[in-house]
Amino acid sequence: MSSPVEKGMLKCEEDPQVSKRAVSSVSGKELGLPEVSYDFRGDRFWRKIPGWGEVTAAEFGDYAWQQRNSVTSLSQVGKVLGPLLTDPLAKDIEAGLERTPMNLRMTPYIFSLIDWENAVDDPIRKQFLPLGSQFLDDHPCYMDDSLDEDGHKATPYLIHRYPDKVLFLPITLCPVYCSYCTRSRVVGGSTAVKSKSTYGAKTGEWESTFQYLRDHSEVEDVVISGGDAFLLRPEQIKEIGMTLLDIPHIRRIRFATKGIAIMPMKILTDEKWMAALELVSQTGRERMKEVCIHTHFSTEGEMTSWTLLAMQELVNRGITVRNQSVLIRGVNNEFEVMYRTIKKLAYLNIQPYYIYVHDMVPGCEHLRTTVAEACELSKRLQGTIAGFNTPRVVCDAPGGGGKREVSSFESYDRELGISTWSAPSVRGDQKFYYYDPIDQLTEAGQKFWADQNGLEERLAAMKSETR
Ligand SMILES: *Cc1c(COP(=O)(O)O)cnc(C)c1O
Ligand code: SF4
Repeated sequence: MSSPVEKGMLKCEEDPQVSKRAVSSVSGKELGLPEVSYDFRGDRFWRKIPGWGEVTAAEFGDYAWQQRNSVTSLSQVGKVLGPLLTDPLAKDIEAGLERTPMNLRMTPYIFSLIDWENAVDDPIRKQFLPLGSQFLDDHPCYMDDSLDEDGHKATPYLIHRYPDKVLFLPITLCPVYCSYCTRSRVVGGSTAVKSKSTYGAKTGEWESTFQYLRDHSEVEDVVISGGDAFLLRPEQIKEIGMTLLDIPHIRRIRFATKGIAIMPMKILTDEKWMAALELVSQTGRERMKEVCIHTHFSTEGEMTSWTLLAMQELVNRGITVRNQSVLIRGVNNEFEVMYRTIKKLAYLNIQPYYIYVHDMVPGCEHLRTTVAEACELSKRLQGTIAGFNTPRVVCDAPGGGGKREVSSFESYDRELGISTWSAPSVRGDQKFYYYDPIDQLTEAGQKFWADQNGLEERLAAMKSETR
């Protein structure tokens, strides 16, 4: 089979206009809705990076090249950026890497979409490359395992929190590492502040998980995440997919991967991986079961002509794709940004499914937003696009309450930034609490948290009041 490059699909090198779309303005201008341009860049943007100035579109478009040239250390950042890496920025990155629980890993694709002249404020840089100067102290109530996943382990690889759906984590490696990862306690390798027991995909160890699923006929939905399904080998995609499809009560499976957002080339050039996915998807269809991909775009800046081609490929193969974003301060927490992101996702046949309020994990205080802000965003997004493309803004209730519609809190003390949640169909009458980032509170609220004296007792008193 000839590659898309040979087939002439990747024309961006010869003709930067190839996949430009006309700028369309949406109605509702008078309501303040921003204009959206369905213009997916097809230029050779990576050539602005000194280290990749000579890289051809064929090389850049090869997923193996992307993997081989991923940036995983400050010295590699320096090597590819050359003079674009200023001394202060290098020092700031070094300080960031000393505080983050996440490893550094970026594909050349996502790395070269950063505006390096303006790296400090760049929304893509903020997701993957932490700067020491931007860190804030963790909230006193942060949790390593914000969603209490370890407390809901049915097998070493399976989280069973909800009655009819489960989360299978066959791998804890990803093709990139996000500073805001909710599973920072296990995903990627150890860092200066966090040692972890990361694991790669080990086929031989999944049988007890499969057996658990065979034995639990109430389970209808399986999310295959991690880590990232992009790093499962084709035979592992097949093994997991076919084994799950063989279990009669399992009706829907999703492979979760950030891949489409950070390395769309794999969809276009990893024939074996795509063939495995297509086989599972086709088998699912024959059995009237759903097999789809859940991906993870944060902003429109991650969508290019490569994304367009990758999505055309997935659409051609009949594979449904949905998106789950995390709400990240300074990245996508403004209505205009999220609105444009959602419109462009929908254009690409990617259904915006969830927007998560940032979990209470460490090293992320500067990236979190308040519940109030998430509620406002949810309100404004409603009605701007088809209902099935309207993302549900949810708070995954810390401590294991599961995903809750953000406006469905039981009570909310905005001054202290404490919201109370319940999850009657997941955890009965147990209460859960989410805490807004302290620097976003009023002065009085900030004072409450700054005073360490009897903080625990004061919190306990508040919690018993809200019962
Ligand atoms: C998110 C999640 C699921 C899937 O939930 P959906 O709302 O169907 O996307 C299943 N199990 C766990 C533990 C989860 O966190
Ligand atoms: S891709 Fe997902 S699992 Fe991997 S680091 Fe990012 S958020 Fe975490």
